[in-house]
Amino acid sequence: MSNQGVKNRMAPNVEGGAFDSQEKGNSSSLAVVLVSGGLDSATVLADAGSRGYELFALSFRYGQRHEVELQAAARVVAAQGNVRRHVTLDIDLRQFGGSALTDDAIEVPKGRSSDEMEAGIPSTYVPARNTVFLSFALAWAEVLGSADIFLGVNAVDYSGYPDCRPEFIEAFQAMANLATKSSTEDGQPIRIHAPLISWTKAAIIARGDELRVDYSLTVSCYDPSDEGLACGECDSCQLRRQGFAEFGVADPTKYR
Ligand SMILES: [Zn+2]
Repeated sequence: MSNQGVKNRMAPNVEGGAFDSQEKGNSSSLAVVLVSGGLDSATVLADAGSRGYELFALSFRYGQRHEVELQAAARVVAAQGNVRRHVTLDIDLRQFGGSALTDDAIEVPKGRSSDEMEAGIPSTYVPARNTVFLSFALAWAEVLGSADIFLGVNAVDYSGYPDCRPEFIEAFQAMANLATKSSTEDGQPIRIHAPLISWTKAAIIARGDELRVDYSLTVSCYDPSDEGLACGECDSCQLRRQGFAEFGVADPTKYR
């Protein structure tokens, strides 16, 4: 499939809003970017950088099974080259558990078909994770005087995660503009940018290819080895591998 063909596969209902990937930032504005160390957030970081924002990267050590992704986050930030500051916050969601990513008693699903993946919210869903992460990003943005928060959520390949949908992003943005001094008193509304939300994995990789993102630095696997080698069988590994295949480039992922 051609690069252009992939990129045209966008859901019509989210074009032009806060999700518009063509929206340009002011050259002097600051952006807080959530960086997990995975493929999507690496692309979003490069995308925000390409719009002229001064970049502030935010990662979380939340008790994730794949904590090795934080090493990837550090590599991605270093490769971007112009991140003003990278903060990694400790929020131990493992104390709550309730997800295959934060509770060792819950297994990461492996070898699932696409039908199985689309059947419902998977056990890798971390309760309220994006609400938690965006809340911290909002706090930092307000301190920085930034009006722009970027994150790499995607609603196409994963229909299952409720906090990856446009409705959630819109609602969070509305909440942010009720919740902050920045918006209610200082006249600076907060915008939540989710430029990848309606893109296929192949379209995301195509955009990253344009931006020269080095995906060999990233870790998407939910259950990697301690060295960061991907399992190749979890939902995230499968979707990532399909994305490279569909875009038609070699998969740089290091597998076990
Ligand atoms: Zn995996």
